[in-house]
Amino acid sequence: MSKFEFAPMPNSEGYFGEYGGQIIPPELKQAMDDISLAYEEIRQTQAFQDELMQLFQDYVGRPSPVYHAKRLSDQIGGAQIYLKREDLNHTGAHKINHCLGEALLAKHMGKKKVIAETGAGQHGVALATACALVGIPCEIHMGQVDIEKEHPNVTKMKILGCKLVAVTQGTATLKDAVDSAFVAYLENPTDYIYAIGSVVGPHPFPAMVRDFQSIIGREAREQFQTKFNQLPDVITACVGGGSNAIGLFTAFLEDEDVKIVGVEPAGEGLDTHRHSATLTLGSPGAIHGFKCYVLQDENGEPLPVHSIASGLDYPGVGPQHSYLKDIERVQYQSVTDQECLDAFMTLSQVEGIIPALESAHAVAWAMRQAREMAPEQRILVNLSGRGDKDADYVADKLGL
Ligand SMILES: *Cc1c(COP(=O)(O)O)cnc(C)c1O
Repeated sequence: MSKFEFAPMPNSEGYFGEYGGQIIPPELKQAMDDISLAYEEIRQTQAFQDELMQLFQDYVGRPSPVYHAKRLSDQIGGAQIYLKREDLNHTGAHKINHCLGEALLAKHMGKKKVIAETGAGQHGVALATACALVGIPCEIHMGQVDIEKEHPNVTKMKILGCKLVAVTQGTATLKDAVDSAFVAYLENPTDYIYAIGSVVGPHPFPAMVRDFQSIIGREAREQFQTKFNQLPDVITACVGGGSNAIGLFTAFLEDEDVKIVGVEPAGEGLDTHRHSATLTLGSPGAIHGFKCYVLQDENGEPLPVHSIASGLDYPGVGPQHSYLKDIERVQYQSVTDQECLDAFMTLSQVEGIIPALESAHAVAWAMRQAREMAPEQRILVNLSGRGDKDADYVADKLGL
């Protein structure tokens, strides 16, 4: 069992270059500083590291395999495509990695309740799972519109024992759920903790969630060294808030020969308003308590965004990704809804692996890239989750 390690932090104010920080009201500052302090303390201790690593192994099923998608690679006729199988984790995606970390931190801090919002319900289910395991009450805020759309996840959250708060204000979707969850959290930030679902939000969340997710890249790097005595030529992952991507990328940032590409949703096209390509078309701004690239109007208000993958439609993005774009260590490219659907079907029918629509963005980009590369080269794709949740939607859409 490898040791649980932590990436170097951003600066003490939580800045990655000019991005990140804490753009928050004074009443939240103390709560965030308490979380920051508790995390700094706990992450150094052997007991915490051992507990998290043990859960990763025995509960999540880590390490997740690196799988050679040989038939897919042969069909394309270029580079070899490998998949880091986060879809095989308990609960079916990478989100369980950081939810376990956050739940353990909540327990350590003696919190009486964990509060969060959820859009499509993926973060809600992963967090409700972690809270059931750790034994802390969990309260999830979800827009009424999303509740009606995402029935299986709503049912799972109820079975897992979490309290579901239906949000009917505004458009009754994710943004209103965030607002509602924040109001509930501010009632008692001493006894409650807000568990953010990606590498976004005020410091320390972007660094903390990254640390919990960085197990993905550390494993993958070791797996490649052992298998090939070599690193991949290219690594790639989809980017919504950016947690699965930074989880893979962190271990490779100093490997200059490894090309790193984050894949954003181009939706119905970058020339339409129906996309969510924040790093590709956004500009520096602030959202939900931190600075990052934002898709925004001339008043700095976030624009409505779209992706076929509901886990990717966020008008902001993690501050570290914003920084990595500016220093050009990571390239950010995009894939349309249609390319995503094609990759979803191809991976399903050529490899027998049904990917999450989010993950299918990274697969689509890898398929495009592989054609430009030689057969002895290797691309590693983070397959962030499985597609059970998307199967009915895709079948409907394609008239299957
Ligand atoms: C939530 C989700 C994502 C997007 O979140 P990131 O923070 O960008 O990783 C990607 N893939 C799957 C399977 C998800 O559930």
